[in-house]
Amino acid sequence: MIYKRSSELFAEAQKVIPGGVNSPVRAFKAVGGDPIFVKEAKGAYLYDEDGNRLIDYINSWGPMILGHAYAPVVDAVIQKTKKGTSFGMPTEIETLIAELAVSMVPNVDKIRFVNSGTEACMSAVRLARGFTKKDKIIKFAGCYHGHSDSFLIQAGSGAVTFGSPNSPGVTEGTAKDTLLARYNDLENVESIINANKGEIACIIIEPVAGNMGCIPPVKGFLEGLRALCDANDILLVFDEVMTGFRLAKGGAQELLGVDADIVTFGKVIGGGLPVGAFAARKEIMNHLAPLGPVYQAGTLSGNPLAMAAGLAMLNELNSNPQIYKSIDQKTAYLHEGVAKVLQNYNITHTINRTGSMISVHFDETPIVDFETAAKGNNETFKKFFHGMLDNGVYIAPSAFETWFITEALSYKDLDETIGAVEKVTMKLK
Ligand SMILES: *Cc1c(COP(=O)(O)O)cnc(C)c1O
Repeated sequence: MIYKRSSELFAEAQKVIPGGVNSPVRAFKAVGGDPIFVKEAKGAYLYDEDGNRLIDYINSWGPMILGHAYAPVVDAVIQKTKKGTSFGMPTEIETLIAELAVSMVPNVDKIRFVNSGTEACMSAVRLARGFTKKDKIIKFAGCYHGHSDSFLIQAGSGAVTFGSPNSPGVTEGTAKDTLLARYNDLENVESIINANKGEIACIIIEPVAGNMGCIPPVKGFLEGLRALCDANDILLVFDEVMTGFRLAKGGAQELLGVDADIVTFGKVIGGGLPVGAFAARKEIMNHLAPLGPVYQAGTLSGNPLAMAAGLAMLNELNSNPQIYKSIDQKTAYLHEGVAKVLQNYNITHTINRTGSMISVHFDETPIVDFETAAKGNNETFKKFFHGMLDNGVYIAPSAFETWFITEALSYKDLDETIGAVEKVTMKLK
């Protein structure tokens, strides 16, 4: 495939935008080459500026679970737009989406909408600190909770792809309140809690990690965290920005049967518009301004276009719960197909999957935490990525990302993808 126009556009972009992109994960820095500029997208396909059609396995990094330009979402936004795009005053649609979200998600009574997953996680931690009157938080190496200061300590996703999991600009004062634990290692968490008795406000975790590739929690891990939190007056925060409304209507809490105290959302909840949210029981949420002392605000929070897109998306998911079964089956089909090809050609690999989150790692040690995930970040991944691209399949340009499956994919698309994997794999050896 030819990407001439994309490269020209990238050259122009780099003159006025740092690195030519507004979010580092979009650059191809980790795999080499120039990023692709999208012209439009529909269903499971991207159409780029050179006229190539690509099968999309990023789907805006998760939101487009029902495919690009999904008609009910697009229509809702168009209708809303005609009536004014922002008021900075309450609107009914905010209550409608809040009621629906709270009805779909376990263990929450109230929800507050913000503009991104970053904001949601940042605000959730402030709320946890304000509620518990404690300062420290525990996060896990390789987990990504957005780019606010407290979380850029061994963060996943772009932070690790670009070699700055600990970003300059985060002060030592901030960093010292973020305690770092190993994913899937309960004893490690327990020893950190014991060394910081009475000082920890919350443990924040991706209940299924998705920003160091996909890493499911091992049996008993989340249950163990729940018990540790209960025993030590610590709030358990599930960052469901990726898993929320994706793994089940009620996200990872529902799928895995573990209760969190605060849950954060983003991605799917906005249907492709900039939306984040955090939710909890009444007694916790009532600590937020204007009811309580914990301050949190936003000029465009609850924006009518964003709420219209989110509401249309959640309505579709809520009224068609068979979507979850269907998308799981499609992902399982892809999983089996890709695994078979890699086995046939004797390529060292591990495939991790939970529901419609999947990642392929080119290493055979089980991928259970950040350290093991890092082993799959190798030359084979780069060749695989570019090979797939040459065959019209767009996966994330980093070994530390999950593939996001969309319900818009047909079995024919999946077969085409598996065919592409075979063509690429033949040349890997
Ligand atoms: C994407 C993501 C975020 C950040 O959301 P933004 O909307 O990019 O700010 C936070 N947490 C997780 C788990 C994510 O996947």
